[in-house]
Amino acid sequence: MRKPFIAANWKMNTDMASAVELAGGVAKEIAGIENVKTAVCPPFVYLQKVAENLSHGGNLHLGAQDVYFEGNGAFTGEISCEMLKDVCVEYVITGHSERRHVIGETDELINKKTRAALDAKLLPILCIGELLEEREAGKTNAVVANQVKKGLAGFSAAEAVEITLAYEPVWAIGTGKTATSEQAQEVHAMIRSLLAEMYDQATAEAIIIQYGGSAKPANTEELMSCPDVDGLLVGGAGLKVESFSEMIKIT
Ligand code: PEP
Repeated sequence: MRKPFIAANWKMNTDMASAVELAGGVAKEIAGIENVKTAVCPPFVYLQKVAENLSHGGNLHLGAQDVYFEGNGAFTGEISCEMLKDVCVEYVITGHSERRHVIGETDELINKKTRAALDAKLLPILCIGELLEEREAGKTNAVVANQVKKGLAGFSAAEAVEITLAYEPVWAIGTGKTATSEQAQEVHAMIRSLLAEMYDQATAEAIIIQYGGSAKPANTEELMSCPDVDGLLVGGAGLKVESFSEMIKIT
């Protein structure tokens, strides 16, 4: 059975005090909940302070929003896997649509980051998802399948099960337009059958596939009732203790 996984991507939001308060508030609200894996992904500069304020052994884990694939050296502005591990990070988002479409990251770069993260024993959350014009042109499955294949290139089945996939239709991110549960399920099922082709059925059944895109308390139950939706990657609703912890409780 796949354990549901709800993670919040705070993006470039919060300040030191509100980051600590938000993570601490969520940790307190969800204390004792064990049937759901949870994580928050604050901006890099607040990771250490948030880690210091989260009780070790609690259910709220720490993730980063990005990582660089090189170990160290002349890569101005970048952050390595070991640096993230040094501040108690366990998860790392790779290939978020804002990094793909605003910063210009390619599938090849995202694959290298995902590889570096897994090799360093960080748990990647690999994001995939189509643009509105791609959906309207009937290309959703082709675009998403291509991102999955390129993102997971070179990973064995044993490695792939350590990677969470997050299907995030770009037109649903931060827009208030959630994919319907039918739209989400259709793509999640397509991804799972692709994983079965790439690996085998048992591997496909073991991989967690989150949905992301305007997920909030009001649509959590419906999204989570889809057989192939195993969790949520949450942006806006992850910035409030009440809404994020409610989503975890509903799950
Ligand atoms: C995201 O950025 O990963 C996201 C899903 O954002 P939102 O929930 O705000 O749409």
